[in-house]
Amino acid sequence: MKKIEYLIAKIAGKFALQGTKLGKGMGKSFPGYLFLKIASFNGLKLLAKNPKCGSIILTGTNGKTTTTKILIRLMKNEYKIAANYESNTINAITTGLLNDNVDFGIFEYGIRDTIHGIPDKIQELVDPIGVVYTNISREHTQVGGVKNRFEDYLNAKSLLTKNMKKGIIISNGDNPYTTYITKNKEKESEKEGYTLKVNYFSSILNLETTDKKCPACSKNLRYHKYENDTLKYPNKNYHCDCGFFKPAPQVKLTEIEINADRWKFKVVGSPYNYFLKDKFSFDFTSDFPPIGLHNLNNGLTAITAYASFTSRPEKFEDNVKKIFSEIGKDILPPGRFEIFEIKKLDDTNQKNIKVKHVGLGQGDNGEALNVNMKFMKLIMKNNNLHFIYTSPDDFEEDIFDDHLKVIEEAKPLKVSVLPGRNSLKMGEKAYNIIKKMYDSEFHPIVDQNERINKIHEIILSSDMDYVIASGCGEEQKMWETIKEQLRKNL
Ligand SMILES: [Zn+2]
Repeated sequence: MKKIEYLIAKIAGKFALQGTKLGKGMGKSFPGYLFLKIASFNGLKLLAKNPKCGSIILTGTNGKTTTTKILIRLMKNEYKIAANYESNTINAITTGLLNDNVDFGIFEYGIRDTIHGIPDKIQELVDPIGVVYTNISREHTQVGGVKNRFEDYLNAKSLLTKNMKKGIIISNGDNPYTTYITKNKEKESEKEGYTLKVNYFSSILNLETTDKKCPACSKNLRYHKYENDTLKYPNKNYHCDCGFFKPAPQVKLTEIEINADRWKFKVVGSPYNYFLKDKFSFDFTSDFPPIGLHNLNNGLTAITAYASFTSRPEKFEDNVKKIFSEIGKDILPPGRFEIFEIKKLDDTNQKNIKVKHVGLGQGDNGEALNVNMKFMKLIMKNNNLHFIYTSPDDFEEDIFDDHLKVIEEAKPLKVSVLPGRNSLKMGEKAYNIIKKMYDSEFHPIVDQNERINKIHEIILSSDMDYVIASGCGEEQKMWETIKEQLRKNL
């Protein structure tokens, strides 16, 4: 492309960038959109050279936004960075790259399938030196009326690193699917003599469900405990007869101490570092706000990514501790699972105030609902549980299957079912299966506001000690609104 076109595009994009600082809404993607309109993909290729060191892209099914936000805080302490999260598109990444004089670009990128995203194109154009895979699980198996097979989804995720030959991939070793993608990539890198490395992370919590099929041969994976596993949380290792197995992680979360105010955790690692071109080791304890085990996992992911790209390994421990001590509840994106303690009045004596715990928030796929329930279990002292479940959309039977496993494991005494999205039919289907197993009720409401009020009402009127409300639903509109209503009752 001609240089002048690129310059015009950049000026237009930057002009929009200035303008959008005043307003909200399209701010995260409009400048990039404008730039791409004028300069096209070739222009983006040039623009991607803007960050001095390079760019890091984060993808996965769950935890992208929180991981990106934590990584931004860690990297900001050391570098000048341009970042974009929550918008998830090429326009948003381009908007971030319009910032001059930065060391790193850090971008969240969501991939549903190859029809709605262009992961291989993104890799080619942005040419990242780091790709982070948080986890991969079944979600949104139907997009725009078209069935999206899990194999296609997995393939789309793998395209983001398919042609990567340098840099570091940060991969979730506890998740067989991210592991599968990166193990293949590692083999290729060794064979072809690339400089590309992989840093796996793994958590003692291991929040993954253990019913997965081997991504290499489709047989059921086999799970086993670590030999010296004395902790409360069963640590699951997976392997398959075909030879696929869990890799030895470079960074591990080895201990966790749950306290009411802050959680303490220990992290031990010896990851490959991009600048050292070698490994460095650490072993230290830090702390985290009590906002869910999956978020602690997101913290571990960000720590591994930061360890891969810090230029000051000698200061790594101090920097992580400093930034983590500053992380509060505000790191949570709206709608995410939180546990509230609300008063319940004793019927006979209004003065006798008892407390019930209400866990509430998004659980759009099996993995997400599973970690929500695991978090809930941590605080439960008895099995007096009321499950308020919001079902998926039409053609998302496989998501319901995954959800049902979580409900079965939770063993609730009562289940209230509501459609979580637009499908009354799917809600009914879910209810008809659930009612055979549990004392349950169905509220056939698809109007969003009515549904919000109903869930709020069920939560308040439930006389159980523990209430969990989770499943499918709009993060911001549905879960965050109910949370706001609940906060008024605290
Ligand atoms: Zn296998």
